[in-house]
Amino acid sequence: MKKEKNENIEEKLYKLAYIDKVTNIENNNFFLEKGTKLLEKGFEGYLLIIDIGKFKAFNKKYGRIIGDSLLKNIGIKLKEILGEKRIITRLANDVFAVILEEKEQKELTQIVEKLLKELSNIEVEKNKYKILISIGISKIEKEDKDIFEILDKAIIARDEAKKNFNKKYHIFNQELENQIIKEHDIELIMEEGIQNQEFKVFYQPKVNAKNEKVEEAEALVRWERENKLIPPNEFIPVFEKNKFIIQLDKYVYEQVCKDMKEWKEKYNKKIKVSVNISKQHIVQDGFIEEYYKITKKYNVNPNEIELEITETTELDEQFGISKILENLKEKGFKISIDDFGTGYSSLSMLQQIPVDVIKIDKSFVDQIKMLEIMILIAKKMDLKTVAEGVETNEQVQILKKLEVDLLQGFYYSKPLEKTEFEKYWQNN
Ligand code: C2E
Ligand code: CA
Ligand code: CA
Repeated sequence: MKKEKNENIEEKLYKLAYIDKVTNIENNNFFLEKGTKLLEKGFEGYLLIIDIGKFKAFNKKYGRIIGDSLLKNIGIKLKEILGEKRIITRLANDVFAVILEEKEQKELTQIVEKLLKELSNIEVEKNKYKILISIGISKIEKEDKDIFEILDKAIIARDEAKKNFNKKYHIFNQELENQIIKEHDIELIMEEGIQNQEFKVFYQPKVNAKNEKVEEAEALVRWERENKLIPPNEFIPVFEKNKFIIQLDKYVYEQVCKDMKEWKEKYNKKIKVSVNISKQHIVQDGFIEEYYKITKKYNVNPNEIELEITETTELDEQFGISKILENLKEKGFKISIDDFGTGYSSLSMLQQIPVDVIKIDKSFVDQIKMLEIMILIAKKMDLKTVAEGVETNEQVQILKKLEVDLLQGFYYSKPLEKTEFEKYWQNN
């Protein structure tokens, strides 16, 4: 009699400490304790973090009760698919953690695919609901002893999976972590970079293919920090993700207009400059007015500016962008399609959006047939052509024969710091 009562209390205490009230499965305490014990024993397998995307919105849409039932049913479904014996826990609000002892990646992928399929379409009180599931996975090796470390890795992988609509699960790897650390380092110093004027505008000459005289230039940003140059490929993609590119592009643009004003006064001759602009930026409200204002502030005529944008693949996007480009053209700006040929819809894009110039991507500089076709199309459509990445005399001769309008590349000059560029321009 007495013993039974004791068991009851024990059971109650266990429940209190280790069972999640909403789903009736084990909670994060259980996960951490059990996980630690497993690692101490040299367990090998995988940790899965299963995340319900936009759960807050789900709750708002269907109400808290349905939301709770959903969580509960996910718990039930996980047990049904994986078996009662597995470690299946609710870690936090809309996050579940599962430990698998499978060792082969093939087995793992099969389980993960099954989970994704079954959980994305789940029944709650006789209705089926579509939900967004993302799964982050970290491998547990014999040597691993810290459950928090494994958890962090799975969370990093989960975040990666969430970012990507096409791949709903991600397995952690070291490069991913290094990349994230690097991006984080850049994010910590980017604003300081602008304040301290660490971003410098370099200019790469574009020469007329007929007489090889400098006719235009492309502005390319450089980041000088503590006497080191961080290459654009390291920070531009990060800035595109976190939208800091908008601030940077504006900063570069203002610098370019300032330089152009100075040159006009100093040399009494004009040069057309092209500026790169991120698509994120173009679609911002007020972008056109802002650029127009800067242009006017420095007495630059918009037709001395070419805005380089990269190809767009999404049709929706194309229609939106097309309208903005039309407005830009009305103000007098010239539009150039950068990296032409690398997207999927180059041709249809040319028909839908108003363009003045195409910049043939450097990967085509040795593909004569492709060059021929692209230049032919450009000519038919009355577009100016620029070949970028020109490195050899042989390439120059071919491009001249094909009647490209402008040549840009290391053969003539690399991007130059402002005063260096001025010298080059005056002498060529
Ligand atoms: P992009 O617009 O395609 O710029 C051309 C890139 O090719 C530049 O790299 C340039 O230095 C490089 N290049 C020039 N000539 C040659 C050549 O003969 N051979 C080879 N292999 N490369 C050549 P960079 O300066 O490192 O810039 C990389 C990318 O960063 C640019 O590609 C552009 O997409 C982006 N970027 C640079 N500045 C800005 C900016 O102010 N705003 C935005 N949004 N993006 C920028
Ligand atoms: Ca460019
Ligand atoms: Ca380019």
